[in-house]
Amino acid sequence: MKAFFKNIFHGISDFIGKGTKTGDESRTLIIAVRLMLISIISYFALSGIFYIPQRNFLIFLFCVVFLALFSGLFIMSYHCKPKVLFYVFNIEIIAWIYIIIYSFGWNIGVQHFLAVLLILCYFSCYNQYRWKIKYAAFLCTLRIWLFYAYHDKVPACQLEVSQENILQVINTVTIFLCISMIAAVFSNDSQEFENRMVIYALKLQEEAYTDTLTGLYNRRKALEYMDYLTKEQNKGFSLCICDIDLFKKVNDTYGHDFGDEVLKEIAKVFKEETKNKGFAARWGGEEFLLLFPECSGKDAYIRLLNIRDRVKALKIKKEDTVVSVTMTFGLAEHITRNSFEATIKEADKRMYFGKENGRDRIVFND
Ligand code: GH3
Ligand code: MG
Ligand code: MG
Repeated sequence: MKAFFKNIFHGISDFIGKGTKTGDESRTLIIAVRLMLISIISYFALSGIFYIPQRNFLIFLFCVVFLALFSGLFIMSYHCKPKVLFYVFNIEIIAWIYIIIYSFGWNIGVQHFLAVLLILCYFSCYNQYRWKIKYAAFLCTLRIWLFYAYHDKVPACQLEVSQENILQVINTVTIFLCISMIAAVFSNDSQEFENRMVIYALKLQEEAYTDTLTGLYNRRKALEYMDYLTKEQNKGFSLCICDIDLFKKVNDTYGHDFGDEVLKEIAKVFKEETKNKGFAARWGGEEFLLLFPECSGKDAYIRLLNIRDRVKALKIKKEDTVVSVTMTFGLAEHITRNSFEATIKEADKRMYFGKENGRDRIVFND
C-alpha cells in the first residue's frame, strides 16, 4: 500500500517536474506555475460543477472558458519557454480577475489573486529588481482602480449573497493554496541552492589547498596548518623537510612524465604514513613537508626511518626498467617559544646538511 502511494507520488512529481531538469533557476518557476495551474483548473472544475444545479449559465460559461484557457496554458508549459509561460500566466490571471469583477462584482474576492502575481513576480528570477518594483506598483494601482471602479457598482450579473459567499470561500482557499505553493517550492529551492553552495565552497577550498599532481596538501595549506597549530592550539610538533635525491637525473634519463610518476608514488607513501597521525604536503618541486603533531623529535625520527625505507623500497616501472629513488630528510622539533618559520628553516638547513654529506639520510641533530 505504502509502495503504491509512493509510486503515485513519484508519478505526479515526475509529471509536474517534466522538462525542467536543466538545473537553472527557471525550473522552480515552471513547477510553481504548474502547481498553481492545477489548483486553478480544479477551482474552475469545482465551481462549474457547483453551478450546474444552480442553473447560473453565465458562471458556468465563464468556468468552461477559463478552464480551457488555463488548461491550454498548462499544456503550453511543456512546450514554451518559462519566461513566456510567466507572462502569459500573468496576462490570463489579470484578464480573468477583470472579467469576474466586471461580471459578478467586488464581493467574491477574486482581486486577491493579484497578491499571488505579486509574490510570484518577486520570487521569479527573470527580471531585475527595478522591473519588479514597477510591476508591483502596477499591480497595486490596478487593485486600487478596480476597487474604485467596481466595489459599489452593480455587476453585470447580480449573484445571490449565498452564491457570493461560496465563491468568496473558494477564491480564498485557492489563493492561500497558490501562495503556499509558491512559498513551499521556492523555499525548498533556496534550501537546495544553499546546500549546493556549501558543497561547492568546500570543493573550491579543497582544490585551493590541494596539489594537483600528487593529491597532497599544498604549501599554502601547510602554512595555514602550522599557523593554526602554533597560534590557536599552541601545540608542539616535529617537522621534516625532505627532498628527492638526484631527481634531475631521473627526469633527464626517463623523462618528465616518469618523474611525475615518481612524485605520485612517493606521495602515496606519505599519505599512508601520515594518515590520522600527521600531515604531508608538497612543499614545492620535489620537496615535501611532513609534520607530526604532538610528537617529539625522537619519535618522529623513528617514524621517518620507516618512511625512508618505504620510499627506498619503491619500484617504479618504466617499460623494462625498474627505478628506485632515495630521499634526504631534515628533521626539527618545534619549540613553542619559537616561530614555526624558524623550525622550517632549521629543518631545511638539516636537509641541506644531509645533501652535502652523502644524501639518503635523516638529519636530526647536525
Ligand atoms: P639533489 O639531490 O641535490 O636534490 O639533486 P636534484 O637533482 O634532485 O636537485 P635539483 O634541484 O638540481 O633538481 C630538482 C629537479 O626536480 C629539477 C626539476 O625539473 C625537477 N622537478 C621539479 N618539479 C617537478 C615536477 O613537478 N615534475 C617533475 N617530473 N620534475 C620536477
Ligand atoms: Mg632533489
Ligand atoms: Mg630540491
